[in-house]
Amino acid sequence: MPEFWSRLLGRFGLIALIALIAWPIAGAVWALGLLSLGLLGELIFHLRQLQQLNQWLANPLVRAVPEGRGVWEDTFVALYHLARRQSASQQQLSKALSRFQRAGEAMPDGVVMLDAGDQIEWFNPIAAQQFGLHLETDIGHPITYLLRQSQFNEYLSAHNYGEPLILKSTRSTDATLAIQLVPFGDDLKLLISRDITRFEQVETMRRDFIANVSHELRTPLTVVGGFLESLQDYTDLSEENRAHFFALMRDQTLRMQRLVEDLLTLSRLESAANPLQEESVDVPKLIQQLHQEAQSLSQGRHKIRLEMASDTGLLGSESELRSGLGNLISNAVRYTPLGGEIVVRWEEVNGEARFSVKDSGIGIEPQHIPRLTERFYRVDRSRSRETGGTGLGLSIVKHVLTRHQSRLEIASEVGQGSTFSAVFPASRLVKTVAAA
Ligand code: ADP
Repeated sequence: MPEFWSRLLGRFGLIALIALIAWPIAGAVWALGLLSLGLLGELIFHLRQLQQLNQWLANPLVRAVPEGRGVWEDTFVALYHLARRQSASQQQLSKALSRFQRAGEAMPDGVVMLDAGDQIEWFNPIAAQQFGLHLETDIGHPITYLLRQSQFNEYLSAHNYGEPLILKSTRSTDATLAIQLVPFGDDLKLLISRDITRFEQVETMRRDFIANVSHELRTPLTVVGGFLESLQDYTDLSEENRAHFFALMRDQTLRMQRLVEDLLTLSRLESAANPLQEESVDVPKLIQQLHQEAQSLSQGRHKIRLEMASDTGLLGSESELRSGLGNLISNAVRYTPLGGEIVVRWEEVNGEARFSVKDSGIGIEPQHIPRLTERFYRVDRSRSRETGGTGLGLSIVKHVLTRHQSRLEIASEVGQGSTFSAVFPASRLVKTVAAA
């Protein structure tokens, strides 16, 4: 017999035995009275235990399980073990839940959990930022109240979530989001939103770049093609015309060559597989050479002055520096009218080295200055082309300087001239052999 029953029957048996013993001694009335009293005591005892159990169930804390006596002792002990097991598994569950929550919060994308009625159950901080959601006010509201865009409504009701939906953010006009709904469980959904603004910008830049390169190549190719056809069709062209045609074709070919060379230079500068060469560059000597090149480009049309206030060299790539600094000097020559003055200066200012080219040229309006280093950005297209520009020079300069942890400073006034300065950090300065 199970212990519970044997203990219970034992107690009732004892009461009955006492009543039986009392019967011959004190008579039937007393015996029945004793029996009733015993049974009443037993009832009160069990009611008290039941009340304790009831009280505990109202607030079932493991540490507060009643001790219990008699047959109730085993019940309360079993209850204690059950409550302990439950509390342990609850703790484990809530730990797992908070781990999932923290993982959701750490996600680099926005995450919103939707219930079967598309109401918001939970969202992470990135989603809060992307959609302007607030924990206190927006939990429990339909997502369509908060993301009021017809495209999103259609996407949500179409139940075809294979492809993400590309949306312009309602909060910031510049941001573009890729939104993907992922159904799970019983009609629940996860909304995952990724900010693809940067990706879109890169994609636009790539498209613009290809369009620009094609456009830049098309004009000279059309010219050369046209001349070749003429040469083929008009066999009786005079020697003079023929020479003129060839000269023009050579100019156009050179233009294409310069463009391809600049494109290759840019691609080398941008390539991660092409780390910066760290050599000691004799900058004063390099500037002297660039000065001579500028003289031959100017052909006496400008006064070009050199001011060498420092003999410091630089740690970096000689070929890149030649290309970067050379571009600044040749731009000064190209954008300065006949008789203008150009000053090329090399100096040390506040521990930094500064290469500056000051011209008395056409100058640049302030709104153009921040965009000058963009590929193919030109203030005056025809002037740039006439002087053999590719529109990539300053872009190359910027890349070269960035690779040398240096910066480009531009100061200009329309009609007065411009000063382009390349500023190198103290960490790049080295003593050259010539200076030592
Ligand atoms: P480009 O081949 O057209 O000269 P760059 O990238 O070297 O291309 O320069 C971009 C634009 O910046 C030029 O088209 C020109 O409008 C302007 N610019 C550059 N240097 C000067 C300068 N020294 N004076 C006036 N404008 C300049």
